[in-house]
Amino acid sequence: MFELPPFRKCPKCKKDAFGTLSVGGTMAQKRCAECRYSHGEILPDLDKRVVYLDQFAVSELYKTKTKTRRPGAPSEQFWQDCYALANRAYLRQQVIFPLSNLHSNETIVFHSPEDLRLAHEMFSGETRFENSDHIARLQEWKFAEAYLRGEKPPTLTFTADDVLSGDRNVWLPVYHIGVNSDFSIFAPGLRKSKATAEDGLKQLAEGWVKNRATFDQILKHELSSYGPAMRYAVHEEVKRSYAAVASDDPASVLDMSFGLQNRYKELAALFTKRAVSGKDVSTFLDWKGNEHQPAHKIFAYLMAALGWRVSSGQSPKLSGHPQRFHRDRDLCALCRCDVRRSAMRILAEARPAPFRA
Ligand SMILES: [Zn+2]
Repeated sequence: MFELPPFRKCPKCKKDAFGTLSVGGTMAQKRCAECRYSHGEILPDLDKRVVYLDQFAVSELYKTKTKTRRPGAPSEQFWQDCYALANRAYLRQQVIFPLSNLHSNETIVFHSPEDLRLAHEMFSGETRFENSDHIARLQEWKFAEAYLRGEKPPTLTFTADDVLSGDRNVWLPVYHIGVNSDFSIFAPGLRKSKATAEDGLKQLAEGWVKNRATFDQILKHELSSYGPAMRYAVHEEVKRSYAAVASDDPASVLDMSFGLQNRYKELAALFTKRAVSGKDVSTFLDWKGNEHQPAHKIFAYLMAALGWRVSSGQSPKLSGHPQRFHRDRDLCALCRCDVRRSAMRILAEARPAPFRA
């Protein structure tokens, strides 16, 4: 009863009952449903592609699979084809769609988080991406070391296996074992962070419209804003921690995050240890070489693309209130790049400490 099809002729009893009992790593355990004869078979080598699915795609695929998409919602045929192809390639051991910590946060605020998480886990090939902050931190660390040595910005490698936990090339197991954890207690904090981020983005978008900013202008400004943006993000994190402690509210204490504070504490220790005259964390943050940090660069291009769409009147939905961009409002008193960075960073950072890798 545990043997799964397809069934072949059993080498021992010759009945057509030799099926698959389990799959693990690069080995399939076969067993006869009649005489219980069994042996292991080595499976072919794999070389799976790694695809990052945006949370939007994850939920569209989930809704397509569970037939819960709103009738008449746009691009129905596209998502059906997409699901069929993705699922076939996945089952053929050709591709995996690893989970990311950015998804975890989005999933918590989804209306049926358990189901969505499980659906994505089923597509992840038993792997997940390393925490996105951890990746940015490693990149920054390499840049800091180059800065300390007085070198040019380093060239980093981009191998998918370097940012995956779990093995990319194992065969999918017959059964997926999931852990049903209820993270819904964190949802209010995450929703609040998202709302703050959306407010920041709205203010920023108004500035783009007002100044008729071009893609190149926004990109240049973004790339050169590493130092001020990081300082502001750390400042905001500290402020949030103090407010949480002072509030006596257990829920906001659960939402506390120390990622950036720890990151810069460690970096400060590196600078103290190396003791290069005239160089500290602050001078490093303003180093022009940081414009080449991959995580920073990707972010800058994304913001420039978004800003260009907004300033050229395409107004992507940031909040559901696009008319606000056309109102003549003054900019926030804060420096625009800080609001922008803070908004995006809050989206990325909005995660309680227990989730950290
Ligand atoms: Zn047999």
